[in-house]
Amino acid sequence: MGIKEVDGVVIQDKHKASCHCGAVELRFDLPNGLEELRRCDCSLCRRRGAIAASVSLTGIQIIKGKERLKLYQFNTKTAKHYFCDTCGIYTHHQRRSNPNQYGFNVACLEGVNPLKLESIPTNDGVNHPADRQSG
Ligand SMILES: [Zn+2]
Repeated sequence: MGIKEVDGVVIQDKHKASCHCGAVELRFDLPNGLEELRRCDCSLCRRRGAIAASVSLTGIQIIKGKERLKLYQFNTKTAKHYFCDTCGIYTHHQRRSNPNQYGFNVACLEGVNPLKLESIPTNDGVNHPADRQSG
């Protein structure tokens, strides 16, 4: 079970989200609330700065502005990062680590202030855990 409430705002089973300018509107299926919240320090995420949560591939509905979403890919070109072509806001991405999932920008959720979330784990995107030496 994920986080069902952020500073008094209840996460809906189908929660609306939008980019900044409103060209893109989405709906995320979040029956368990916000799951697998994380930040990441890979070369893209450290610049983007967004807190992401997870949703299944069938759990995203684009209500409006599908044609306004631009795709950005880099490195292995496995992950698909989408953003609004007008305001530039990142909305969601198909993961490289788990292509059966989308990550999405928690800050795009209607009414949710991501700065009210506590203790978000950071995914170490720079050094894969298997590459790290202990001690
Ligand atoms: Zn926009």
